[in-house]
Amino acid sequence: MEEEWKGPAQWITALIRDWVNTSPENTLGNEARDRAWDDPLVGFSRGDDACWESFKEHVGPFHWTPVEAFLLAYPDGGVRPEALTVVSWVLPQTKKTKRETRGEKTYPPESWARARFYGEVVNEKLRRHVLAELAKAGVRATAPALLPQFSRMPSEAFTFSSTWSERHAAFVSGLGTFGLSDGLITPRGKAVRVGSVVAEIEVPPTPRPYTGHRDWCLWFNSGTCRTCAARCPVGALSEKGHDKIPCSRHVHETCSRYIRERFGFPGYACGLCQTAVPCESGIPVKGAPGRD
Ligand code: SF4
Ligand code: SF4
Repeated sequence: MEEEWKGPAQWITALIRDWVNTSPENTLGNEARDRAWDDPLVGFSRGDDACWESFKEHVGPFHWTPVEAFLLAYPDGGVRPEALTVVSWVLPQTKKTKRETRGEKTYPPESWARARFYGEVVNEKLRRHVLAELAKAGVRATAPALLPQFSRMPSEAFTFSSTWSERHAAFVSGLGTFGLSDGLITPRGKAVRVGSVVAEIEVPPTPRPYTGHRDWCLWFNSGTCRTCAARCPVGALSEKGHDKIPCSRHVHETCSRYIRERFGFPGYACGLCQTAVPCESGIPVKGAPGRD
């Protein structure tokens, strides 16, 4: 019997989900080999989507468009923006990690710290796996976050920001909108990490079931909630938004020291504003079209 032809969206979605759901590499790296990430979401956006140019204004002129990132990997590329697709994915934290983090008031538990450190290694392996599978099919692709030129830059709007924002890529690809704490609220909630690759392949874009970039946050939607602000141990969240300076100090200095001393591995993490909040595991706005 002939194998049923799958369109590129189904094929790429399946290869990402299969890897996350079956690979022994998807682990927190502890003795129990606990799973790092739950079943992922996958979305697609066009390389010539108008959002990419708008990020040069909203994030900073240093933020790459997909074609700029692609041409860093393939300098003789000769590629047009409309020939590119951004493949974006959302990796939800496991129930166990979220449960353990909900009860914390100052520092992350070991599971969350491991998800930030070893879980990002998993995310890197996933990016490489997707690139390898695309290459086998003759598709040129790059993972902007793995490019040697990838860096963090000072940003007027966000204090500092990256040359490629995985969360912005997920927003364009129909996977979520931003919350008061800057995290991306997805159909699986805000306790997630995200990743992406830019590929020279035509895939129908995922519809964006929102119009504004903050539609799924209760504070911006209806002026209620702010639970994430109450969760922050250093007052980095308020109705004005996310103050990255005290947040970064807590995450990169205080928590980093704590993680090394308490759990014995290098890393930085916090995650308190991503758990025990209405947007932790789903879209909190009732009637939102993306809500399960
Ligand atoms: S906790 Fe509430 S205010 Fe904060 S991001 Fe989530 S929905 Fe928005
Ligand atoms: S990550 Fe931690 S320090 Fe930063 S805003 Fe969230 S709760 Fe506050």
